Amino acid sequence: MPSDITVNGRTYHWMDRPLVVVCIDGCQYEYITAAVAAGAAPFLGRLLAGAGTSFMADCVMPSFTNPNNLSIVTGVPPAVHGICGNYFYDPERGEEVMMNDPRYLRVGTILAAFSDAGAKVAVITAKDKLRKLLGHRMKGICFSSEKADQVTLAENGLANVLDRVGMPVPSVYSAALSEFVFVAGVKLMEHERPDLMYLSTTDYIQHKAAPGTAVANDFYAMIDHNIARLDELGATVVLTADHGMNAKHGSDGKPNVIYLQDTLDGWLGKNQARVILPITDPYVVHHGALGSFALVYLGASGDQAAVAERIAALPGIELVLTRGEAAARFELPPDRIGDLVVVSRQDTVLGTSRDRHDLSGLDVPLRSHGGISEQKVPLIVNRSVSAQPQNRRWRNFDAFDLGLNLAARAS
Ligand SMILES: [Zn+2]
Repeated sequence: MPSDITVNGRTYHWMDRPLVVVCIDGCQYEYITAAVAAGAAPFLGRLLAGAGTSFMADCVMPSFTNPNNLSIVTGVPPAVHGICGNYFYDPERGEEVMMNDPRYLRVGTILAAFSDAGAKVAVITAKDKLRKLLGHRMKGICFSSEKADQVTLAENGLANVLDRVGMPVPSVYSAALSEFVFVAGVKLMEHERPDLMYLSTTDYIQHKAAPGTAVANDFYAMIDHNIARLDELGATVVLTADHGMNAKHGSDGKPNVIYLQDTLDGWLGKNQARVILPITDPYVVHHGALGSFALVYLGASGDQAAVAERIAALPGIELVLTRGEAAARFELPPDRIGDLVVVSRQDTVLGTSRDRHDLSGLDVPLRSHGGISEQKVPLIVNRSVSAQPQNRRWRNFDAFDLGLNLAARAS
């Protein structure tokens, strides 16, 4: 067995049996407990009841998909790995860009380090936007269910994925997009038996359906069934989430939105400040690009303290921090965030200008994330774990530490 591997200042034991780390996108803890209570997730129920070990962990802020997936696979916060949103303002280029290009990634991943050392590594993600970041410099299998029909041996390390999985390419807005990830993961474990596998789903269902609803319970039943199968195949399985998910609407079903760009334009004059929403990505139908986290660039003109105070006084705002405060508190890279960082409360989201948000795709009342209110996520492993300090602040990016270092070894 090769020796321990050190990545980004943390040391990981070589796996004694396959490790599967699962990131369930948007998995507020209550989705699991509600599905267990309804009898829809018996395997997860047994893990929570003591057959495994479960913790409540904090995800990284902003509670969005890309920063957290990258934290999980690097073992460090965004201050170190550099990916602090799906989207950001690149001051060097003077433009707003997607942050899904590996050029923005500042460190290597645990996956790449183990593949370099000879481990058989596989990554399956629902949305293709994450594939290049997660698979950066990694040798092995790496593909998305979104583009499963375009998978090739040369590019993705595997051929004939659709035949092997036995499912058609799912719609990008479907539960099947995530189911495909699990079914493919189980097939890989049955046939290729990777040493290390990372599965990352999409939060389409969580944006639509609250914990305990029939739709949510069906989805967690699917997850439960596949995780049970991975367990049966002898893998250590660590389950965590990139962020939680909460209702962001009033009793009338309309979203509670603060259109921050419009507000600042009203206070300071048109376009004196620039509002960036790091939730923005090409798939906005289910959340209208509305989340509970925003960046404000004031430029030379703005009186930072006065604007911060005024934003903080708006109903629905939880917190306004300066760049330095936010970088320290949320472990963010100061060069990639605004002069101000704004977080809204659990039931409120932040927008830019009203006319820049297409809410026509919202066919159910808005559920979203991004804030401190979505920071609590599950961290569950199907093993016993050596005694840990009571006061340890668990993070979702402790997933590999838990699976490789702390979970009971095979005897
Ligand atoms: Zn997500």
